[in-house]
Amino acid sequence: MPMTSASCHASAAPALFLDFDGTLVDIAPAPDAVRVDPALPGVLHAIAERLGGALAIVTGRPVDVVDRYLAPHRFDVAGLHGAVIRVAGRDIAEPAITPSFRAEVARLADGARPLPGLIVEDKGASVAVHWRLAPEFRPAAEGLARTALAALGPEWRLQTGKAVLEIVRAGTGKGRAIARLLTEPPYEGRTAVFIGDDDTDEQGFAEVLARGGLAVRVGDGETRAPLRVSGPAALAILLRRWAETGQCPFPLPGAANDETMPFRSERPMGDMTDD
Ligand SMILES: [Mg+2]
Repeated sequence: MPMTSASCHASAAPALFLDFDGTLVDIAPAPDAVRVDPALPGVLHAIAERLGGALAIVTGRPVDVVDRYLAPHRFDVAGLHGAVIRVAGRDIAEPAITPSFRAEVARLADGARPLPGLIVEDKGASVAVHWRLAPEFRPAAEGLARTALAALGPEWRLQTGKAVLEIVRAGTGKGRAIARLLTEPPYEGRTAVFIGDDDTDEQGFAEVLARGGLAVRVGDGETRAPLRVSGPAALAILLRRWAETGQCPFPLPGAANDETMPFRSERPMGDMTDD
């Protein structure tokens, strides 16, 4: 097949926004236990090249953790749910880390220590409490997080994800992060595609759909995303195809009807990956 342009035949070339955990990698029992397919960084790099750099990881993870998992490449990243945003190696948003926040993180960690299986993930400018390994301590985790939130005040909010509670800056979120990225070249003016797996991604889906873009939910769960893939393994196949052919595997809004597209709406997307 001849190489085609990066355009998905839509009116504007796509900008690709990707969640990390549960989307590019399977969710692991503990946050530091995820396994990255060794081919993934190269695949993402190839897609980024085809998109003129318009590919960003939009995640709750810190930026340096994303860099570590996707080495040797360094991608644009909206980390900590958008509290930190790096584009082309330049930080365009940085969090203010206050002593009072650090003190609450320490108190939270102290409170969780006697509860085996609760994992407090200190991200510097946000903090997550994971109860995946100890569902019986979920109420305790909520209590600890709410106590910390009450002490921190209205500039912070509690966010829930898959077996995790997280205290983040009130003004952050994946929708806002994507909106901010879309004000910067090379994202500006493009058709936004966001792929994620969790409730925290729904805000990002709303943002791209409101802009005439495309939302793809990975795995199960209620969603506003019009398209779905079965899991990270199925998505990896589609991304590899995108990297190899230069052709976006998703039918973008406004795209011409293209019979080479792998998806038809009457079939679940996860079934379309092995044809
Ligand atoms: Mg996720």
